[in-house]
Amino acid sequence: MEAMKLIAGNWKMNGLKAGAAELEALLAAEVPAGVELLLCPPATLVAAFAGLAEGSKLGIGAQDCHWEVSGAHTGDISAEMLADAGARDIIVGHSERRADHGETDAIVRRKAEAAHRAGCTPIVCVGETLAERDSGETLAVIARQLEGSVPEGIAGLVVAYEPVWAIGTGRTPTTEQVRQVHAAIAARMPAGTRILYGGSVKPANAAELLSVPHVHGALVGGASLKAADFLAIAAGAAT
Ligand code: PEP
Repeated sequence: MEAMKLIAGNWKMNGLKAGAAELEALLAAEVPAGVELLLCPPATLVAAFAGLAEGSKLGIGAQDCHWEVSGAHTGDISAEMLADAGARDIIVGHSERRADHGETDAIVRRKAEAAHRAGCTPIVCVGETLAERDSGETLAVIARQLEGSVPEGIAGLVVAYEPVWAIGTGRTPTTEQVRQVHAAIAARMPAGTRILYGGSVKPANAAELLSVPHVHGALVGGASLKAADFLAIAAGAAT
């Protein structure tokens, strides 16, 4: 049986308590057949959203975690704290974390291990920059990131392929480019690993991107902020 397509929303550093109105709209909607919905709000909203979503089909996740359980790491949040707040999944290694916070593959790997240790599903992001794509290095970069940042032996771990140049730019790779990278990731990961595509997914392109072989869902940034758009993307994944 085909695995459920995972449509995950990443609100990034957006959302106040009033954002619960969008959550209410998601909770009121029918989740399309064959689709699993996940919303990753900022850490400040995880507990409140998890409480509101309890018993629904909407999962609540987080966007990052520290690798230690606890300790002297001012401003950081551990995977255990996020799990305690109700996070089911944790995104790690997003390109914005890699670029803005200098996160290396080794750090991302420790964060993925921490998410798993806390009982959450790690969603590990990989993706090439435009310069790397233009110089023909895409598959080598992806292979290196997978090798360095994906721990072995974590059942259910999810990989998100997010070309850095497609994030928030309105640009997307061709379906052939997506097919090529997803096939390469699938060949390196244990059978059954879900591989999400992320980068400027919107209602207008979701069905096409989600129909590419080895695309098992989407990681959605900007378009996840509006429930109507996020649900329209989920509709594009329906079986
Ligand atoms: C992201 O940052 O994970 C992302 C895919 O963003 P956007 O959909 O806005 O390109």
